[in-house]
Order: sequence, then C-alpha cells, then structure tokens
Amino acid sequence: MNQRFCTSQNIFCTAYGTPKYHNHFNLCDMERKLKFNMGDELSGRREQEKPPLTDGFGRRISYLRVSVTDRCNLRCWYCMPGQASWMPKNDVLSYEELQRVISAAAGIGISKIRLTGGEPLLRSGLCSFVRRVVETPGVREVTLTTNGVLLPRYATELKASGLERVNISIDTMDARQYEIITRGGCLGDVIAGIDAAIAAGFQRVKLNAVLRRDADMDDIRSLVEFSKSKGAVMRFIELMPLLRSESRITECWDSNFVSAQEMKARLTGINLDHVEFISPVSEPFCDTCNRLRLTPDGMLLACLCRGGHVNAREILRSGGGDEELAQALERCASLKPEPWRAWGETTRLERISAIGG
Ligand code: SAM
Ligand code: SF4
Repeated sequence: MNQRFCTSQNIFCTAYGTPKYHNHFNLCDMERKLKFNMGDELSGRREQEKPPLTDGFGRRISYLRVSVTDRCNLRCWYCMPGQASWMPKNDVLSYEELQRVISAAAGIGISKIRLTGGEPLLRSGLCSFVRRVVETPGVREVTLTTNGVLLPRYATELKASGLERVNISIDTMDARQYEIITRGGCLGDVIAGIDAAIAAGFQRVKLNAVLRRDADMDDIRSLVEFSKSKGAVMRFIELMPLLRSESRITECWDSNFVSAQEMKARLTGINLDHVEFISPVSEPFCDTCNRLRLTPDGMLLACLCRGGHVNAREILRSGGGDEELAQALERCASLKPEPWRAWGETTRLERISAIGG
C-alpha cells in the first residue's frame, strides 16, 4: 500500500475515530481536505522560508500545465496536421520523471496541476498517475483537459483517483461537422464521454469549443442548450494562430477567426449565464497569467506562444536533484515575457498538441 496514503489515513483515524472503510483507491472528501490542509501547512512553512514564486513582472506563478503525451486519437485541423508525427518515445518523460517535476513545482508554491496533451487519456496508466499527483504534498487541485472520447472507459476511475474537474472539448453538435473538424471523430463518442463524466460525479464539467467564423449559429445555440441541459459550463475559445508555419492553416486561421465579442453579440437574447468567452487573441490576458507549461519531452515553457524554455529532461537524466529542478522552474518563471496586448511575429509556431493546450 502506498506509504503516503497510509500517513494521511492514520491522521484521519486519529482525528475522526477509526473508520476502516477507506481503501487506498478512494480518497474521500474529508481525507482530501485533510491532505490539502497538510499541504497548506507544508506550503505555509515553505512560504515562511521562501517568497511565493513570481515572475519578473510580479505575476504570482501557481499553476503548471503538464502535457503527458503529444499523441492524439483525433486530428483537429486547428491543432495538428492531418499527417501527424510524434515525439520519439525515448524523449517522452516517464511518469516518475513527470512526478519529480510536479513535486518540485509543488515545493515552490505551484498548487494547481492540469493534465493535458495531445490526448492525455491515450497514455496508459493515467489514472494511477492522477492519484500520485493528487497525493503530492502542496498540490491542491488536479484537473484534466480531454477530447472525451475515452471517458466512458476512465471517468469513474479518474474520479476515484481524486481528479477534481474535467474540461471536455466539443466544437459542434453536428455529427458531420465534428467528423470534419476532428478529421474522422465521432460525435457520439464525445457525448458518451460527457455523460460518463457527469455520471461519475464530476461537478462543474466545462465544455470547450473553439470559435470558427463559419460555424452555423444554430449549431452554436445547440451547444449552449446542450451544455445547459447537462449542467455544464460552456466555454467558447478564440481560435489561436498556433500553426502559422503551415500555410494551409494560416489560410484557415485568417478566414476562420472570429472574436469572442462578435460571437457574443450574435447570441443576443439567449441566456448565457453558464457560458464563458475566452479571448486569448482579441483580449490577451497575459497580465494575469499564472502558469508554466511542461511538454511531454520535458521542456518547461514560460508561455504558450513566446518566451524561453528550460530543459528539465536534461536535469532529470543527468542525475539532477530536486533543488536543481526547483531552480529550473524558477528560471522558467523568470523567462515569462512581458504582458502583451497583440499577437506579433514572435509567436511560437509549434503545435499546441505538443505544448499542451
Ligand atoms: N486533446 C485534449 C482536448 O482536445 O481537449 C487536450 C489537448 S487540446 C490541445 C486542449 C485544448 O486546446 C482543446 O480545448 C482545444 O480545442 C484547444 N486548442 C487546440 N488548438 C487550438 C487553437 N489553435 N486555438 C484555440 N484553441 C485550441
Ligand atoms: Fe487532439 Fe485535442 Fe488537438 Fe483535437 S485539440 S487534435 S483532440 S489534442
């Protein structure tokens, strides 16, 4: 049995009697709160020793997005080429290596972890990894972004592993459009995934849809209604020009970009209480950015689109210790670029699937 779990269980027993009904598969809410409180105490102690992690512009860094794989079972046209090639397997960090970076991050005050990809549920053993991340001292919240296709298989186990929330991508309610956008995906699969997440007990499920100028307004309204009927939050996200290096994508972006503001105006008269509009292009929110990113091959990125990176894989594979990893994270935070108001020529031209959305 996992030693760390036993510790939290013992504390539970001392404080609240001796309930023996917890198996190590189910972290109950009370237990999780205790763990978080322990995390608070631990991070509180650390904060006395060290100031919170901030970048050169005073932004507090508390969030790490971890892309566990660049592979995907879909090929959304705005995200990756139809003929995708993957990172060499040896370059991809093992779960142990990912865990070491996450522990180091939690040790310097990064308390929120989002697992993403590629399609994170394609990587075998993800549920066990979620449990390990949840149990990491200092980590307060672990969330997941997925295309939902594999959720019918994994939702219950993910919930039992302590995953807090899940964001599921669904761009359309039209089966033919879904197939076109994802280059072959089946809308029924993602709907089954959403249902599975809700049935597993996930609260505040968020549905992500990338905005396209050519989207049919009836379809957008259907997404709004569908999310409402499921008790989910609907998030419309502006299309980012992340694949500019591929000329066809450039054309697609130029003709397909529509601002969140314009789309919101088109939806006048509809109840949008459960709808969020995310405007990374028209209104970049870099001044409040609190995150770093870790790619599957171990690069710590200061920003989705600009700024530098730090090679954590090299540290991990050359025998570097936790202190060196913490320093790498601090260095990466120091590389975060100045808040910017417009997408310029310096935009990183890589695939978002390799970076982690
Ligand atoms: N495969 C998972 C999924 O689709 O949710 C996780 C990875 S995906 C890269 C994460 C998010 O990035 C998705 O919601 C996707 O729609 C979004 N995304 C990908 N390319 C994008 C782009 N060019 N502009 C805006 N959002 C994008
Ligand atoms: Fe795959 Fe997600 Fe990219 Fe679509 S957006 S290709 S599902 S990684």
